Amino acid sequence: MSAPYARVALIGLGLIASSMAHAMRRAGMTAEIVGTARSAGTRAEAAEVGFCDRIVDTPEEAVAGADLVVLAVPVGAMGALAERIAPHLAPGATVTDVGSVKRHVVAEVSPHIPEGVHFIPGHPLAGTEHSGPRSGFAELFDNRWHLLIADEATDPQALDRLRAYWTDLGALVDMMDADHHDLVLAVTSHAPHLIAYTMVGVADDMRRVTDQEVIQYSAAGFRDFTRIAASDPTMWRDVFLTNKDATLEILGRFTEELFALQRAIRTGDGEMLFDYFTRTRAIRRGIIQAGQDTDAPDFGRTKTKR
Ligand code: NAP
Repeated sequence: MSAPYARVALIGLGLIASSMAHAMRRAGMTAEIVGTARSAGTRAEAAEVGFCDRIVDTPEEAVAGADLVVLAVPVGAMGALAERIAPHLAPGATVTDVGSVKRHVVAEVSPHIPEGVHFIPGHPLAGTEHSGPRSGFAELFDNRWHLLIADEATDPQALDRLRAYWTDLGALVDMMDADHHDLVLAVTSHAPHLIAYTMVGVADDMRRVTDQEVIQYSAAGFRDFTRIAASDPTMWRDVFLTNKDATLEILGRFTEELFALQRAIRTGDGEMLFDYFTRTRAIRRGIIQAGQDTDAPDFGRTKTKR
């Protein structure tokens, strides 16, 4: 059995960190939770919600004596944060992160990690379009994948311990290498977000023409896009800036498919459209069968607390 952590430092107190703290409480973990965020406003809000045992003003103070340090800030802020905390990390501690892009985080954070401290990057495939310390909830990670980036050099005990921690938070844990992670996520998350942003942008232009009709008669397809496009602008800016190659690769393929569908519509190729939509429907069934969503008409979102 892996030893549980005694003190967990959460740096950044938004959706992910606050959900981790709630899930730790739910799991009955006895670890002291020390939190910090960049702004005094966020720290005060987090103190009001009360999911940390202690809130301190700086990351340096937060990591002192912690045996697990979680970097839960936007991907673009990870490198500078790692540099700041490095001299204050306890020997034997594990540093992990929850960033949505992995190659960039590995490149920016690893050089700062001192000898004797374990760095095991991670990414919970769980989230909502909400942010900040009030948006977290204990069930966020339930039955969702948490991907850990590990290789032969990763300390097996540190890895087992982190795996056990995330399992206790409700997640299913798997391993992946950073490049593969970024390509998979470009397909399943990053490109879809960009498409949603684009579609909502198009509708916004239309709205000027059709005088509120887009909003008033907003149908399920468009409403789903607006939910995704309401996601945090800082987080998503950083995702695209730091997962450039994989996202551009997938968007190139997307454009080709779009042209093929456009052509089928223009030429009246109903067979092509029907076959295409039959294939995509099977993918949806596969996701439901894998337990990663429900087939409720609202995509199972009513079970997700806001
Ligand atoms: P969030 O709710 O927006 O919270 C972000 C936190 O980071 C805030 O406490 C913020 O502090 C702090 N922060 C922002 N910019 C910073 C900077 N330049 N330096 C230091 N701290 C900074 O974000 P989140 O949704 O929890 O996301 C955190 C991480 O999890 C991101 O890397 C994201 O990619 C990843 N992630 C998010 C989701 C999701 O659906 N949201 C899912 C999986 C992974 P202030 O409030 O004081 O500015």
